[in-house]
Amino acid sequence: MILFEKALECINLNLPKRKFVSCKITEIIDGILAEDIYAPISLPPFRQSAMDGYAFKYSGNKTLKVIGEVRAGEFFNPSLNNNEAVRIFTGARVPDEANTVVIQEHVERNLNEITIAKIPEKGDNVRDVGEQIKRGDLALKKGNVLNSASIGYLANFGIENAPIYRAPKVSVIGTGDELVALGNQLEEGKIYDSNTLMLQSVLKKNGVETVSVTKAVDTLEDVTREINKALEISDLILISGGISVGDYDFVRQALIDVGVEELFYKVNQRPGKPLWFGKKEDKLIVALPGNPASSLSCFLVYVLPIIRHLRGLEFNHKIQTAKFEGSFQNKTGKQLFLKAELKDGKISLLSHQASSMLHSFALSNALLLVSPSIPELKSGDIVPYINIANDL
Ligand code: AMP
Ligand code: MG
Repeated sequence: MILFEKALECINLNLPKRKFVSCKITEIIDGILAEDIYAPISLPPFRQSAMDGYAFKYSGNKTLKVIGEVRAGEFFNPSLNNNEAVRIFTGARVPDEANTVVIQEHVERNLNEITIAKIPEKGDNVRDVGEQIKRGDLALKKGNVLNSASIGYLANFGIENAPIYRAPKVSVIGTGDELVALGNQLEEGKIYDSNTLMLQSVLKKNGVETVSVTKAVDTLEDVTREINKALEISDLILISGGISVGDYDFVRQALIDVGVEELFYKVNQRPGKPLWFGKKEDKLIVALPGNPASSLSCFLVYVLPIIRHLRGLEFNHKIQTAKFEGSFQNKTGKQLFLKAELKDGKISLLSHQASSMLHSFALSNALLLVSPSIPELKSGDIVPYINIANDL
C-alpha cells in the first residue's frame, strides 16, 4: 500500500511522451497548440481604412476634390494631389499616396467636393501594415489553448490546420456479472452499469472520445480477452471493478498475465483503496475500484492528470484552500477525498460519503483533501481542496 502523493508521483514518472496531430482549425475544441506558430502574413496585410470617410494626403488643405471611391475588398490606387481625396470605407485598402482618413461625420460634401469641418491628425484612421503582428513574428506560443478566439486569430492568417496535442485513445472496460446495460430489464440481484457511462462522460468532458467501451463478466478468460483487445487500440485503458480481493476479482491476475507491469496496487486512501496502476510499453493501465464513487474519485485524482498531461496541460492538481464549515473526525489514518460543496468561499461536506453512493458526487463541486495525519476538522480551519466543478 502506498501513499497518495507517492502514487501520483509514480504516475507522473511513467507518463508517455505527448503526441501531436495536425488538425483542421474548424474541428478543434480547446486543443492545445503543440508548436509555436509564426505569422505567415502581416496583419493587417495592407493599409486599411479604420473608418468610413475620405482618404487623402495630409497637407492642411481643407477643401478636397473626390476623384473616386474604394470599397472594402477593392483595389484602387490612384495618384493623389494635395487637394484630392478618395471616398473610402472601413476595411478598404488605403491608396498608397494617401496617409490619413477623415471620418465622414467630419466632412461636408457638395457633389464632388468635400470640406473638412474637423481636420484629423496626420495618419488618423489608417491601420498600418503589421499593426497587429508582422509577418514572421511569433503569433501564438506552444501551449496556448486554441479556444474560439485563437481559432479566429489563426483564420486571420489563412491557417487551415494547427498542430495540437493528441488526446489519448482511451478504452473503458467494465467488469461484473451483476451489470446490466441501460435499456434492459433489471433482474433480481443485478444493477445497472453506471461506471462505464460515467467514465465515458467524464472523459468526453475532458476532451477524450473513448475508442472502445466494453464489458467483461467475472472470469479470467473474459477479462483477459477484453484487456488484450483494448491493448491493441489504446494509449490508456481504464478498467472498472474486479480489482479487489474477492474470489471473482480477476483484473490484477489478467493484467499480469498479459504482461502489464504492475507499478502500484492499493493506496492508503478512502475512497478507492484497491487502485491499480501499470504500464505496458508506452500504454498505461489504470484499474479503478468498482464502487462508483471510488471509481470517479480515483479518476479525478489519478487519471485526469494523465489526460491533462497528454493533452498538453498541467499534470499537477491545482490545489486551492478554503475555510471549512462544520466538523469532521478522521479516525481512518488514511488520505481522504471528500465530496464537498464550495459556496461563497466556504467549503462544507456533503452527506452520504460512502464509496457506493454517487448522490453526494452529483451535488459536489469540490473534493476536500484530508491527509492521514489530520485527525479532525472544525469550522474556520483552512483546508485544501480540488475544484471539480469543470471536470465533471
Ligand atoms: P468490485 O470492485 O468489482 O468488487 O465492485 C465493487 C462494487 O461496485 C460492487 O457493489 C459492484 O456491484 C459495484 N460496481 C462494479 N462495477 C460497477 C459498474 N460498472 N457500475 C455500477 N456499479 C458497479
Ligand atoms: Mg466486481
